[in-house]
Amino acid sequence: MVDYLIVGLGLAGIAFCERLEEHGKSFMVINDQSQTSSNIAGGLYNPVILKRFNLAWKAHEQLGLIQDFYKSLEDKLGVSLDHKVPVLRRFASVEEQNLWFEAADKQRLKPYLSTKLLINNNPSLNAPFGFGEVLQTGRVDTLKLVKVYSGYLSKKKLLFEETFNFEELKADVNNVSYGNINAKRIVFATGFGLKSNKYFNYLPLNGTKGELLTIKAPLLNEERVIKSSVFIIPIGNDLYRIGSTYKWKDKTNEPTSEARLELLTKLETFLNCDYKIVSHVAGIRPTVADRRPLVGKHPVIDNIYLLNGFGSRGVMIAPYASNQLYEYIENSRSIDPEMDITRYEQANIKV
Ligand SMILES: Cc1cc2nc3c(=O)[nH]c(=O)nc-3n(C[C@H](O)[C@H](O)[C@H](O)COP(=O)(O)OP(=O)(O)OC[C@H]3O[C@@H](n4cnc5c(N)ncnc54)[C@H](O)[C@@H]3O)c2cc1C
Repeated sequence: MVDYLIVGLGLAGIAFCERLEEHGKSFMVINDQSQTSSNIAGGLYNPVILKRFNLAWKAHEQLGLIQDFYKSLEDKLGVSLDHKVPVLRRFASVEEQNLWFEAADKQRLKPYLSTKLLINNNPSLNAPFGFGEVLQTGRVDTLKLVKVYSGYLSKKKLLFEETFNFEELKADVNNVSYGNINAKRIVFATGFGLKSNKYFNYLPLNGTKGELLTIKAPLLNEERVIKSSVFIIPIGNDLYRIGSTYKWKDKTNEPTSEARLELLTKLETFLNCDYKIVSHVAGIRPTVADRRPLVGKHPVIDNIYLLNGFGSRGVMIAPYASNQLYEYIENSRSIDPEMDITRYEQANIKV
């Protein structure tokens, strides 16, 4: 008997495992490769929505948690994950500059938007109106995190690499059983895989496909993240990730030539140097109709829980949402009502 069975080992599953280890709870994990979101994410964390210069949802609370969270993962796993890189928003006009400085004046945004106008000094970038710098930003190497964390659990024989079979799950008032595993509770953290979860697929997880390119550009010489119509994210060795796209119809993890063309067309409006494409990846962001996470207990069955809906901000949301789920289960604390799944209609629930 273990305390928890967790299904899914992306950012959500990892964040929940971390809470369990922190509190000395026993657990096992089942994970397959059907979803790729955490493996391919740009990995950026940044408290500001750069399209409209708004503060992201609960950004302040989330930023307060992520530093310790990723630092303790780095210490435990012995790898470097959190790269504290500045994010520069490229201005397309004087109007945009003005909007930025108006926003930077607001109390809530003051800690996160620099009031200095940065002039472009990189000849490989076209940025005649300069940049604004977002403060307290960085990039987490999510692919490395998933890989190293999977290895860490495998070594301890806590990870089963297989697809969860819903027919094998039995739940009663005291515990759940799945094959040979008996657990007090089960937590589903399967990202867009929620669609095939009969317990929770009544929830409005839409999913938004995103694609990213990696390019090699030896002349770009840029160490900061540049946000224009696409992001340029430096990852070292003259490699840069270019992303990303947002598509709502296609729900496959296959890279497409349309997305590649879209990314390159946008990139070339502000990149002046030669480059070559090194790789192209795709995944589905677990996005929700109201843009809030999906966290909580199954409305009918006591020992079945959900941690999902991190959308395009998993790096920042994972520590926050996993904390709340843990506190809810173990210490009867209430979940932030904005992300508690009880906010959704329960008419279509299957048991
Ligand atoms: C192109 C792109 C760029 C992004 N950039 C950023 C960014 O810069 N910053 C940021 O914060 N976020 C970013 N995101 C969003 C981020 O990737 C997600 O918010 C986050 O990774 C979701 O994590 P998750 O654990 O909920 O889901 P996932 O990463 O999808 O993990 C779910 C896991 O569960 C497994 N699984 C599913 N079903 C089953 C099953 N039946 N049995 C066993 N295992 C199962 C999957 O295979 C997967 O391993 C980006 C996403 C995309 C697509």
